[in-house]
Amino acid sequence: MQGSLAAARRPRPFTVLSVLSLLLCAICVAMWLRGLRGEDFWTFTVGGNFFQCTADDGGVRVRWLADVPADSRPAGSAMGRQRLAGEELRRSQAARRPPRGAFLNVPDATLRTRRFAGVEWTWGTGQILQPTFFLYRASPLLPLRGVAIAWRWLLAYAAIIPTTWLALRTRRRWTMRQRLRRGLCPACGYDLRATPGRCPECGAVATPA
Ligand SMILES: [Zn+2]
Repeated sequence: MQGSLAAARRPRPFTVLSVLSLLLCAICVAMWLRGLRGEDFWTFTVGGNFFQCTADDGGVRVRWLADVPADSRPAGSAMGRQRLAGEELRRSQAARRPPRGAFLNVPDATLRTRRFAGVEWTWGTGQILQPTFFLYRASPLLPLRGVAIAWRWLLAYAAIIPTTWLALRTRRRWTMRQRLRRGLCPACGYDLRATPGRCPECGAVATPA
């Protein structure tokens, strides 16, 4: 027979989600700290779309160009880290000092951004610059889309589920303790003073630990 604690247990998926969310929180904090000393980047091409993901102290950002002409698609992907951060990195990007491999060149003047609930959406145009033997080969300007979120916002969103889980758990424990103290079934609240032991209402065994 199920004990009172087992009878009142929450569904497991919620606990799993909480653990995953906590893991995401930890990753956010780690990436945030890592971003203070440099920027991580990752570029790749999928089905004619060129993606560039970056993570720095500000947050994580994905920008992509759609329908890249076949002769402008970079072969393979590139992943790396620029050991510059913050203002230093922004100045170097303004000076067009590029990272290794193919990368996105975005004329800032074409960018439009809209922010909603911590998420920044970007529209504009961009081009792919690919290193060649001498310099860089530029693709034509293509429509660009982007989405970015700051670490603090991602952290806040990821914290919702574990915080709710903890609050529900605390409230459930408190309710059960109150019911036991008043001689009620901890699982369903039925009055057990006449029938101590098993609850005649729900079958839970009230065992004072
Ligand atoms: Zn009961």
